[in-house]
Amino acid sequence: MIPVIAVIPSFDPSSATYTIPSSYTKALIKNGAFPVIIPYEASFNIIVSKLSGILFIGGGDPEPKLWNELPGKHIGVIVPQRDAFELNAVREAFDRNIPTLGICRGCQIMNVALGGTLFQDITADTHSTANHMQSEPKNHPSHPVLLNSGSLLYTLLKKSYNCVNSFHHQAINKVAPPLAVSAHSPDGIIEAVECPAKSFFLGIQWHPELMNDDGQNNIISAFVKAAEKYTKEEHK
Ligand code: MN
Repeated sequence: MIPVIAVIPSFDPSSATYTIPSSYTKALIKNGAFPVIIPYEASFNIIVSKLSGILFIGGGDPEPKLWNELPGKHIGVIVPQRDAFELNAVREAFDRNIPTLGICRGCQIMNVALGGTLFQDITADTHSTANHMQSEPKNHPSHPVLLNSGSLLYTLLKKSYNCVNSFHHQAINKVAPPLAVSAHSPDGIIEAVECPAKSFFLGIQWHPELMNDDGQNNIISAFVKAAEKYTKEEHK
């Protein structure tokens, strides 16, 4: 049975339009999944039992109110409907052990939904020295990440030193209690988190779907395989 993977789109409030870069859906299809784009108006709790996996994609900034901060001057466009939909979806996925992958904002919202916090702006709020908002082409790696051996992510990439692309001005500050750091950049920015108690619950700050790199594609292919396995076990 083909794994059906929910993808939560971005939303542009000025034109009331959902958007999703096709790189995400192409990467899922290439690795054998069937992506389904879910609008925020739909009841996630009705569809969730039919899903094999959930992908949270990149986009604008989660609202700082969610971790009891006022928005600073560097905060970007906030879409409260998206925050609300995704917070519920992350918690449902977590409670049901549904394989979950978060990319960029997706990684951040997974952390916030489970009780963590974010830096509103890496440049203003940290001592980071790396360029996390690269201007190079999107498939080019721009900074290294160091993986914790023993993490799920390490088993997927098979080496502790990896060079990745980077398009984020926010980053995880306090890690949510159920999550563990699986990668950070040399300047100390958290680049990936995962839940050791789950079979596949992984958030990464970079974009493997844009890298044209077989090693990086292992992240997507392992996610799809975990989704397939989850559905098989659910229907035993
Ligand atoms: Mn980065």
